[in-house]
Amino acid sequence: TAAIWWVRKDLRLSDNPALTAAVECGVPVIPVFIRDWQVDALGAAPKWRLEQGLHQLDKSLRDKGSRLTVLSGPSKEVLTDLAKETGAKEVHWNRTYDPEGVERDTAVKSSLEDMGVKGQGHAGHLLFEPWTVETKQGGYYKVYTPFWRAVKSNDISEALSTPGKIPAPDQWPDSQDLSELQLGKAMYRGADVVARFARVGESAAHSRLGAFVASIIEGYDETRDLPWKDGTSNLSENLALGEISPRQCWHAGFRAREDGKAGAETFLKELVWREFAYHLMWHTPQILTENWKSDWDAFPWNTDERKAEVQAWKHGRTGIQFVDAALREMYVTGRMHNRGRMIVASYLCKHLMCHWKIGLKWFEDCLIDWDPASNAMGWQWSAGSGPDATPYFRVFNPVTQLEKFDKDRKYVKRWIAEGRKNPHEDALAYFDAIPKTWGLSPDDNYPDPVVTADKGRQRALDAYENRDF
Ligand code: FAD
Repeated sequence: TAAIWWVRKDLRLSDNPALTAAVECGVPVIPVFIRDWQVDALGAAPKWRLEQGLHQLDKSLRDKGSRLTVLSGPSKEVLTDLAKETGAKEVHWNRTYDPEGVERDTAVKSSLEDMGVKGQGHAGHLLFEPWTVETKQGGYYKVYTPFWRAVKSNDISEALSTPGKIPAPDQWPDSQDLSELQLGKAMYRGADVVARFARVGESAAHSRLGAFVASIIEGYDETRDLPWKDGTSNLSENLALGEISPRQCWHAGFRAREDGKAGAETFLKELVWREFAYHLMWHTPQILTENWKSDWDAFPWNTDERKAEVQAWKHGRTGIQFVDAALREMYVTGRMHNRGRMIVASYLCKHLMCHWKIGLKWFEDCLIDWDPASNAMGWQWSAGSGPDATPYFRVFNPVTQLEKFDKDRKYVKRWIAEGRKNPHEDALAYFDAIPKTWGLSPDDNYPDPVVTADKGRQRALDAYENRDF
């Protein structure tokens, strides 16, 4: 007999309710990762990053005398077969909350139950499960601030420690080799470049959190807005794959607040933005695919990805320095500063009047911290079509934003090589990271704006004024 821990977005041993529950069964535990169609459907960078994370998790398991079993196929069939083969009586996982995942998990649970096996989801990916936070009228929150007020004083239980032992079976089930899955192969941009910046695994995540609460948090209120500075936690990459739990981050932030560290409250609020994104995705899953405010369906968005200005945006060659620097940061590091995300999204949706779905999909392909809920909320917020969104007529000016947040052009110099005598090494790394088919070189001239800040703003405002909704 055995218990199965179905590994998904919870690549960690500490504070892992599913793993702890499997260990508490008191029988050998089989950690299994399944390459199902949802894994195949991931964008290039998230898929590559997942492989890195799985290798690291396997190492941590092996240090404890356990290992990751790797299988491919539809999760329901794979898990029911594995339960039969191993005689498992329980299967544990941490919930993920996206609509397709929920459907899959429900089907898995009922198939397992049909064969007398308990299938149990746990709350490990969020601080507050989406259905546990309700307005006074019993509905869900559409605006962040009241959501924050509703949860900020909630008791959050202590994080679980790493199980002392993860009992191993006498014989491991057959497993594929992780490298055989070739998840990283999808990464047609320079994975070796991104690898230099990625911080993979549970212990890397805890080092990041430690460094953040030890010093960066003090200045976080200001530094979090400065794209040239290492002034945030950088934990999104680890949170996306569950290499650290939100509860571990919350308690660290909470203690920092008790210690009187400035910035700690803001950090807690940011963690709650992530919760809010999941709250919205759970209650209104159409946020992933449709204008959350459906009157935006009538807006004359460009949806043609082949347009030259969309290509220029994707290539980081719009001629608008803040936009280009941020997009290049994404190809090199797999991540983008939050201010950059807001600027590039606003420029695409407003100055270029392109549908937010173009940008959402592109981020999904390029970000190693890709998160379905935060990405969708971020894009719909930027476009004006989402809940609690920035109004369409409030158009970020990427030129004045640069003046405000990158006065000395440190960010621009770090990421843009063209026209410079001694380009920064990261600016040059962009040319190693991008596909050769883009045909770009550091010796190219830096382009003129595809749409200037002023013209684009006026065009967007005119379209908004003349909209028929
Ligand atoms: P910190 O400033 O250190 O914040 C701590 C944590 O709080 C973050 O790791 C993150 O989990 C959470 N957080 C902070 N800001 C936000 C936010 N605005 N929304 C939701 N959670 C937040 N975040 C992702 O994790 N994945 C995405 O795919 C993603 N796509 C985005 C797309 C757009 C268009 C926009 C505007 C924002 C997007 N964000 C996304 C949110 C935000 O930009 C990142 O979470 C943040 O930049 C991560 O950096 P950090 O870990 O240093 O954050």
